[in-house]
Amino acid sequence: MIKAIRGFKDILPDETGLWQEVEAAAARVLRAFGYQEIRVPVVERTELFARSIGSDTDIVEKEMYSFPDRHDASLTLRPEATAGVVRAVIEHNLAGDGRPLKLWFMGPMFRYERPQKGRQRQFHQLDVEVFNDPTPHMDAEIIILLDRFLGDLGLADVEMHVNSLGCPVCRPDYKETLKVFLRQAKSDLCPDCQRRLETNPLRVLDCKVPRCADIVRDSGAPKITDHLCPDCRAHDASVWSDLGRAGLTRVHRNPFLVRGLDYYSRTTFEARTGELGAQNAVAGGGRYDGLVRSLGGPDVPGIGFAVGLERLTMLLAEQSRAHRPGPDLYVAALDDAAVEASFGLVQATRSSNVTVEIDYQPGSLKSRMKRADKLNAAWVLILGPEELAGGQAILRNMATKEQPFFRLEPEAPDRAAARLTEVIVKPKE
Ligand SMILES: [Zn+2]
Ligand SMILES: [Zn+2]
Repeated sequence: MIKAIRGFKDILPDETGLWQEVEAAAARVLRAFGYQEIRVPVVERTELFARSIGSDTDIVEKEMYSFPDRHDASLTLRPEATAGVVRAVIEHNLAGDGRPLKLWFMGPMFRYERPQKGRQRQFHQLDVEVFNDPTPHMDAEIIILLDRFLGDLGLADVEMHVNSLGCPVCRPDYKETLKVFLRQAKSDLCPDCQRRLETNPLRVLDCKVPRCADIVRDSGAPKITDHLCPDCRAHDASVWSDLGRAGLTRVHRNPFLVRGLDYYSRTTFEARTGELGAQNAVAGGGRYDGLVRSLGGPDVPGIGFAVGLERLTMLLAEQSRAHRPGPDLYVAALDDAAVEASFGLVQATRSSNVTVEIDYQPGSLKSRMKRADKLNAAWVLILGPEELAGGQAILRNMATKEQPFFRLEPEAPDRAAARLTEVIVKPKE
């Protein structure tokens, strides 16, 4: 038997309902905020990711699916979403008119990581990006958008962590201050951090090794928010004032929140829940004002976030938001004649967007009712030899047990479907 590749997971029929719910909520909220969808390819030139993500990052060093094509160009399955979107924005000059450009897309990404709960090698993200808006209001708005999306889905215990990473004016000084502090604790840091301390000390702040996290939290590491330049400080204050005005309550200043990618500046944020232990971020993002230019585009500011859909759907399933809605109607046809008599009715009823389920192979009343239960059908239409002879079938409301008769009308399925829809749809409204 050929099996799926490790870290590449089937999303099974019982799970896709929840995925569709997430996708629908995203489309709804993003439309309200004025975003347009963009769809970019799964494969890009390796160079794009090396330049945008940074060649000394884990993603580029160890986690990319890269391969030569038939002409020996190095190609890569996208490990994250932003680089491809930025490439498309530059290539098609989408941001050339200087007006805010608000984009979203959803799709699979690929990273060669250790598969674990909620993390696959092929994983899915919802990605949201805004170009051409440098104002702090957009930083606040995009955090509010993320909060609204997660709230719409009913995800419980979400906390928004927000920080500022400064800018090229103030960050270098902070980095030096941080280095001085970390050197004192060098021997207690993990080997990765001992190395990163000199090259990229900010990365030490989000090291997942517990003793590194303890040193950062408990021994008074300098906070970037104490080292912001006046412009960054004013930007940051405005973001917080907007968040307050929008009534976001579960939002925390986290001075040690840094994102793994090198191109972030100023506002950075994560949505976390208490339920995933160390793996508790469901979404994260921030401002990346220098990225478009660094990829050869114009000097266009950008901000965005990505939501990890595997983690999100896993959390929603654990919070038992995942109940698959059953069909509106299950037609229990007990023999071939009943199937013949109801076929037209079933198709006609479906055309008014009523969900109808029927089994075409003959079965007993008992097995049919079992099946209706299993499907979680709201109504059942029972049709056997007696019903056919009498010209009317039994409709059964599975919740109230109410059983109105339904006059069969095999010669006029559309009319019958209209009467049927009237009975089974109306009481729900
Ligand atoms: Zn600054
Ligand atoms: Zn470390």
